Amino acid sequence: MLYNRSNAPGAGADPRVTRARELLRSTYGVGAQTVARAPGRLELFGAHTDYNEGYVASIAIRQAAVAAVSSRADGMVRAVSDQESGPANFSVDELDAGADGQWWDYLAGVIKLLREHGCQIGGADVALVSDVPVGSGVSSSAAVELAYALALAAAAEFEIGAEELALLCQRAENEYVGMRCGILDQFSSTFGQAGRAMWLDCRTLERRAVPITADRAQFVVCDTRKPRELVGSAYNERRGQCEEAARLLGVGALRDLDTATLERRASELNGTLLRRARHVVSENERVHEGVSLLEAGEMVGVGDVINRTHESLRDDYEVSCPELEAMRAAALDAPGCYGARLVGAGFGGCVMALVDASGVEEFIAQVGARYEAATGLVPRIFATQACDGAGVL
Ligand code: ADP
Ligand code: MG
Repeated sequence: MLYNRSNAPGAGADPRVTRARELLRSTYGVGAQTVARAPGRLELFGAHTDYNEGYVASIAIRQAAVAAVSSRADGMVRAVSDQESGPANFSVDELDAGADGQWWDYLAGVIKLLREHGCQIGGADVALVSDVPVGSGVSSSAAVELAYALALAAAAEFEIGAEELALLCQRAENEYVGMRCGILDQFSSTFGQAGRAMWLDCRTLERRAVPITADRAQFVVCDTRKPRELVGSAYNERRGQCEEAARLLGVGALRDLDTATLERRASELNGTLLRRARHVVSENERVHEGVSLLEAGEMVGVGDVINRTHESLRDDYEVSCPELEAMRAAALDAPGCYGARLVGAGFGGCVMALVDASGVEEFIAQVGARYEAATGLVPRIFATQACDGAGVL
């Protein structure tokens, strides 16, 4: 099997693993046949570049989902999560009916696609334990998909490559659950490495591990907790505008342009399309810049790239909102902050800040208080760093 087993050492010490084994035993009275762990992810560079066939860079984070599995032979799937009240109960023969809007849709989708790939799953008892915040922009969905998929495939002794499994999980989310996510989430969770970022070309799926040379910096995720209603429609509108700009300029995707060319041909686009294209084209360039600076340990330079990404998202792509601006202002004001930007689709969600490791706790306390005073919303703020990707334990 080609699973990334780099997580295996020290697995016994992971309390999430112990809890997942115990949850399986206390709920279903069986021991775990296989256990797999898959982390969430944080995007560092490359905002709205993925669907323009461009570049991104991300890390797998400390927060992870752990799935413990015991096979069954009667076609039934029973599943329990420490984060969800209702347990799941369905048959592997009923999966053609599609998703029913429940937390176990991700499990059902993964099982359906694994079976279509020839993996013999004749039922299973599953226990899930996860500390990846849900809906905080760090992809809890990819984490649970990969934890399920790795543990189920291993229990069925099914051989599948890591890249193929990541793509299968993406299809489960796209086709079964009905969420149109790019490949970044599943690839980050699969191929993340401790102390390294992953650079990814979203057109070719070529990837590279980028050493994060500075250990004095930490990434802090600052979730605004603003309800996100506009996201879907605005996201689709931005995608459409990018496609239209690429069509008018006669290129396959905005990834095929550089800033100089776009400036020369600016008159071929209206003001809105030009601003959208300018964000995507400059952001692709910032991914390369940011990755080089990260590798060189130039945290001040990395912070500057992060700040310019945010300004471009705010002014040219127009996906910020008052809550994100309040969070970012609080972050930039706090001691030890190199830079801060919104991550994810925008209109809510999270700010990511690069913070000097010496003052992270103080940073979290100060930003939380300032943000709450400014907006009346209670944020969720946590620090993380680059950790190893998914693996069977
Ligand atoms: P995110 O940005 O965190 O990926 P999504 O909406 O894409 O948010 O995915 C969240 C969904 O993933 C949850 O609604 C749930 O269905 C599933 N999920 C995530 N974490 C868990 C968990 N611990 N237990 C059960 N389901 C989970
Ligand atoms: Mg998700």
